[in-house]
Amino acid sequence: MGKNLLEKVWSAHAVRELPTGQTQLFIGLHLIHEVTSPQAFEDLRRRGWKVLHPERTFATVDHIVPTDTRSRPLADPLAEEMLSALEKSCSEQGIPLFHLGDDRQGIVHVVGPELGLTQPGMTIACGDSHTSTHGAFGSIAFGIGTSQVRDVLASQCLALDRLKVRRIAVRGHLPPGTYAKDVILTIIRKLGVQGGVGYAYEYAGEAVDRMSMEERMSICNMSIEGGARVGYVNPDRTTFAYMKGRPHAPAGAAWDRAVTWWESMASDPDASYDDEVEIDGARLQPTVTWGIHPGQSVEIGEKLPSPDDSPPIDRASIAEALAFMSFRPGAPIAGTRIDVAFIGSCTNGRLSDLREAARIVRGRRVASHVKALVVPGSRQVRKAAEAEGLHEIFIDSGFEWRDAGCSMCLAMNPDKLSGRQVCASSSNRNFKGRQGSPTGRTLLMSPAMVAAAAIRGEVADVREMLPEPALA
Ligand code: SF4
Repeated sequence: MGKNLLEKVWSAHAVRELPTGQTQLFIGLHLIHEVTSPQAFEDLRRRGWKVLHPERTFATVDHIVPTDTRSRPLADPLAEEMLSALEKSCSEQGIPLFHLGDDRQGIVHVVGPELGLTQPGMTIACGDSHTSTHGAFGSIAFGIGTSQVRDVLASQCLALDRLKVRRIAVRGHLPPGTYAKDVILTIIRKLGVQGGVGYAYEYAGEAVDRMSMEERMSICNMSIEGGARVGYVNPDRTTFAYMKGRPHAPAGAAWDRAVTWWESMASDPDASYDDEVEIDGARLQPTVTWGIHPGQSVEIGEKLPSPDDSPPIDRASIAEALAFMSFRPGAPIAGTRIDVAFIGSCTNGRLSDLREAARIVRGRRVASHVKALVVPGSRQVRKAAEAEGLHEIFIDSGFEWRDAGCSMCLAMNPDKLSGRQVCASSSNRNFKGRQGSPTGRTLLMSPAMVAAAAIRGEVADVREMLPEPALA
């Protein structure tokens, strides 16, 4: 019987089995940022410990950085304190820091892959829930808390429970106007926000095989929203083509050796799984969340659920979500008026996301009542987008064009909703208060759907706005 990728990566990195039944797992790459690291470094300092592997540790600033200015000190004294703490810790411990003004700065889950730090067969940890993003490369990537950040800094290891593996095969070709975001929102809706607890998700099938690395990252990114600890895609030619020539990727003879090893880490054709699920990709529709967790979504043509028509177990949560959102049961999601449109985040702030959104907004104007912003996931994304003139398309349409950071995904910086505003967002969480206003309302969707909503001023079907395919 063959092995799946998780089993292979797990045994390649297992240091020992612990008396608790957990595995002590060596972590190949540790990515850190300004929010979850200060206390961890402080703890190390208090104990007089050094970072064990500074050469396997990389820092960036993303969560709290303003996206409309890079000047210091930051207006928010707490944010300034976090930046200063990270600067000090990185300088003391010899850790590279992709700082404000550095061309490599950006959201930690955008920066790792684009610099070639994220590699197949690796174990990766970062103090952010959406670390599962890196699984798109065939790595096993864990989001961890501050005390675990300290553990990895001190020992380069984590104590972890073994995971079961669920293979999710997405069959067929995605129809025009549907994207990786629609795939993952559909998976979470189908399997539930707790459905992946105790599992790693292996994404496979023709639709995933055909996806770019950026699309695979969007899917793996939201694994955690479905309860899965990690999500991954087996490495293949698409993976290697993306990685080749990136600054931290192996080069020369080391590249060939690395590819051989990476290929060996992919799941064997006769690997076994704890569960298998199929999704028909050809039947997907543009999907939008209507509630207060990412599992509460509908296709664009569907009506919102009614507690009375729902299974008893879901009634209370549906009623709570409808009340919070001020939505009527049975109302259509299409036509819901929005106030803010946000394109960005580690889920959908990459170059291909911006290209697709620009295709929709080109030659059109953002509705007069909508505040619309594009926040590239990294400085490199921003630079590449500007080289293609995408920034001009967005600015001409009425979008604000910002600098790299997490921005309105988490609203730990000045980009926040106010009051009851409704935001069409390409980010990953629609929890109450997630975008900075305790009463603000978030509708998650693909970047192209956000672009369509910005133009129409309400939730709209992007398929009605797709440009005609160019004639051959
Ligand atoms: S964009 Fe959002 S989910 Fe991603 S790293 Fe930043 S805050 Fe976390």
